[in-house]
Amino acid sequence: SYRKGGYHAVRIGDPFAAGRYIAQRKLGWGQFSTVWLAYDTQSSKYVALKIQKSAQQFAQAALHEIEILSSIAECEHSNSKCVVRLIDHFKHTGPNGQHICMVLEFLGDSLLRLIRFNRYKGIELNKVREICKCILVGLDYLHRELGIVHTDLKPENILLFSTIDPAKDPVRSGLTPILERPEGGTLNGGSTMNIIEKKLKRRARRAVANISVRRASMGGEAPKSARCLDGIDVRCKVVDFGNACWADKQFAEEIQTRQYRAPEVILRSGYSFSVDMWSFACTAFELATGDMMFAPKSGQGFSDDEDHLALMMELLGKMPRKIAIGGARSKDFFDRHGDLKRIRRLKFWPLDRLLVDKYKFSESDAHEFAEFLCPILDFSPEKRPTAQQCLQHPWLSLSSSDQNEMHGQPNVDVGMSNLQI
Ligand code: ADP
Ligand code: MG
Repeated sequence: SYRKGGYHAVRIGDPFAAGRYIAQRKLGWGQFSTVWLAYDTQSSKYVALKIQKSAQQFAQAALHEIEILSSIAECEHSNSKCVVRLIDHFKHTGPNGQHICMVLEFLGDSLLRLIRFNRYKGIELNKVREICKCILVGLDYLHRELGIVHTDLKPENILLFSTIDPAKDPVRSGLTPILERPEGGTLNGGSTMNIIEKKLKRRARRAVANISVRRASMGGEAPKSARCLDGIDVRCKVVDFGNACWADKQFAEEIQTRQYRAPEVILRSGYSFSVDMWSFACTAFELATGDMMFAPKSGQGFSDDEDHLALMMELLGKMPRKIAIGGARSKDFFDRHGDLKRIRRLKFWPLDRLLVDKYKFSESDAHEFAEFLCPILDFSPEKRPTAQQCLQHPWLSLSSSDQNEMHGQPNVDVGMSNLQI
């Protein structure tokens, strides 16, 4: 992908926007972009630099994302709204063409990484509550104040963040900026330079790894046995507006990542803000259990879409006939009675039982969590509570009594030094 029209190759120390931003290390990448930690020499802060592939369709997508992000950043209170903020944007010309770059506030690891570091065992319920509150604040802002549907909410697109500013507090965060490329040669593959690059890379990696959960909570003195996120006010922000749209200006019929896709999207019955609520419920379940709520697969004689609908009904009960037959694609899956054509025998396993039987939740935890999630998973999109309504739900202000026990199992130590917030 590092060719004409594709990604822009970046080296540590590379300057951007006439030297304002200096590349520090790669943070991640997506289908359309690579994302780099950069040092903003103007504000003396770290930022995330999202460098889009250069071909026309990617540039167009980036301009759309900038439009959405700009409207998000307009609100003066946007910093507290749990949505990533756009700081700047510009064009950067390189050997592969002209790349649109977005400068975003620098955030930490994704919730997917958090789930992985917890070895897919689920995160303590009190932390899940904190994270859910943040996501809901973000969704409420997007939906009610801006009219934006995210359309790709999932653990990967929600990032943790630290209240420590590494630029203001470099000692505690252990992060010192690299301000220029090493002198004496080009950085295009000479063997000496490779050694210097490797050293710089290692230094940058070590530095960023130091903004860890442990350091943030205990000033770097935590014993090895401390658990991930222990004693931390967990906060996070919603990112990746590459697929977001205004509710009244939709352009794609097929939206959302498969596992987080709402039934009305599969059935092509039209969609609105409530598709994000569906994805939110799937995300909350995954945080609490470590498993995806729905992981559909195609099988003999049925498609992944049909399996997906069957999985939904096994967990949530039969889809009302009116909804089942009401979409442009309904005939592909349902007969006129509203029964699936190719998957006949469903094994009903309701959410509260699943949480007790499979995930060893206590009866009360399971009951309360299911009461919170089930209304959000209503097959009828209009009946789903809004983010604002969810924020009022009593489950969010509950507190599980035993903080160190998680669904009857001891909590898992997650190798905090690798986790960045
Ligand atoms: P794409 O639209 O190409 O999927 P994303 O916006 O999802 O790009 O970014 C790709 C990855 O870069 C993310 O999964 C995350 O790991 C990292 N990333 C994105 N934005 C930030 C940020 N603001 N701070 C830190 N890392 C980020
Ligand atoms: Mg992404």
